[in-house]
Amino acid sequence: MSVVTWIGLGKMGVPMARHLVEAGHDVRGFDTDRVAAREAEAAGIPVYSSPADAAAGADVVITMLPAGPHVHKALAGPNGLFSVASKNTLFVDFSTIGIDHAKEIHAVAEAHGQRFVDAPVSGGVTGASDGTLSFMVGGSGRNFASARPFIEPIAGEDKIFHTGGPGAGQAFKVVNNLIMAVCVAVSSEGLLLAERLGLDAKLFHDVAVVSSADNFGLRDWCPAPGVVERAPSSHGYEAGFRAKLILKDLGLALDSGVSTNTNLVITRTVHALYSQMVNMGGGDYDCTAMLPALAGRLQPKDGPSTVDAIAS
Ligand code: NAD
Repeated sequence: MSVVTWIGLGKMGVPMARHLVEAGHDVRGFDTDRVAAREAEAAGIPVYSSPADAAAGADVVITMLPAGPHVHKALAGPNGLFSVASKNTLFVDFSTIGIDHAKEIHAVAEAHGQRFVDAPVSGGVTGASDGTLSFMVGGSGRNFASARPFIEPIAGEDKIFHTGGPGAGQAFKVVNNLIMAVCVAVSSEGLLLAERLGLDAKLFHDVAVVSSADNFGLRDWCPAPGVVERAPSSHGYEAGFRAKLILKDLGLALDSGVSTNTNLVITRTVHALYSQMVNMGGGDYDCTAMLPALAGRLQPKDGPSTVDAIAS
């Protein structure tokens, strides 16, 4: 049994951390949001009042935070956990943060004598609840081997990949999510056309998932409501995978397009659509709310702008 500190107990963090509790680890957490902290405690994860308190005596520190700046500040910033945690703590970042942030955080970890892997995940909140996520891990072979036992309880069979050195987990994840985001957007557009052609959404789904239109965004996250029971669309588009997070991931893909001189013309279009959706107050809806957004029937959510939250 190890002491595991979990920083970031949101939509993914809580169900993922639960698997480590069930595997017998002593899991304690920290989240800046009081509602998230309360939900984590209700799920059996004790929450501490500061990251440093939560990480005292930890064998492993796991981060599951919105974006690169959050992870950088929590780990590699002036009072970050790399400087306060005991040397040789294992740090595992499950967040999607992009290649450059990951490489920078690897370098700071090394300078502090800490072990770090970038290990983004795929499979959504249902994969997190079911323990069937896939993991793309970047870092040394030795650190990958150390991280593996803490990934196995959350991963599906044969779904843990050592994708290469520092930043390689994020590189695979950037491309994966580019394709996923485009599929979600185009599935939303297709289902809107199906609706206007008078097609039955459930019957269309039955046909498409055994035909050439099949993709994860359509099959598991069907953007039309009432078709897939566990899909966010069947629950008022409650996230799930927030639109503001898919927008961040599309931005990371575009950054990689610039750095590799690749014209990501389809990605740019989908990025523009999600920018619009977020700017009109839809950032906290699930990404599949692209369907009602395209139809012009998405009601903005209450609360502060979500674009600032991602960039902070
Ligand atoms: P979320 O917004 O639900 O959770 C993030 C949590 O981090 C929030 O509770 C927030 O309060 C907390 N937080 C922010 N700054 C913090 C800080 N400095 N210290 C402690 N806590 C802090 O997001 P999520 O859906 O759980 O996603 C987390 C990460 O996983 C993101 O990088 C996302 O892109 C990635 N991801 C999400 C999904 C999905 O389907 N939701 C799937 C794969 C990957």
